[in-house]
Amino acid sequence: MFFKSSKINEFRLWGLLLTLFGMGLMILGTAGILLWGQAGKIFAGIFMVFGMISLLVSVGIYFWAGMLSTTATMLQCPECGRQTKMLGRTDRCMFCKTILTLDADKATEKVTFDN
Ligand SMILES: [Zn+2]
Repeated sequence: MFFKSSKINEFRLWGLLLTLFGMGLMILGTAGILLWGQAGKIFAGIFMVFGMISLLVSVGIYFWAGMLSTTATMLQCPECGRQTKMLGRTDRCMFCKTILTLDADKATEKVTFDN
């Protein structure tokens, strides 16, 4: 977890970053043709290939995030009261970033429902 967000949101963020990176590479490659003419075409070709790889990987990440979200646990966040999804036993709320856990042992504050 590099960013303090829920796992699903983090996957989406990485997908987005890779898409932008891929597009950036292709733009740079195209700029190479404008700057160096004929010699820039080889440069552009290489950048296009890397850009395409980056875009394909980002599509893969989006697809993976989609697959993961179907297996995610739906629950109502105790902090903000909104419907959120969590992956695995411990994850963050998609909206308020509160760390949520299904493990009673890991919970710092035990909530009891005995009214
Ligand atoms: Zn929340």
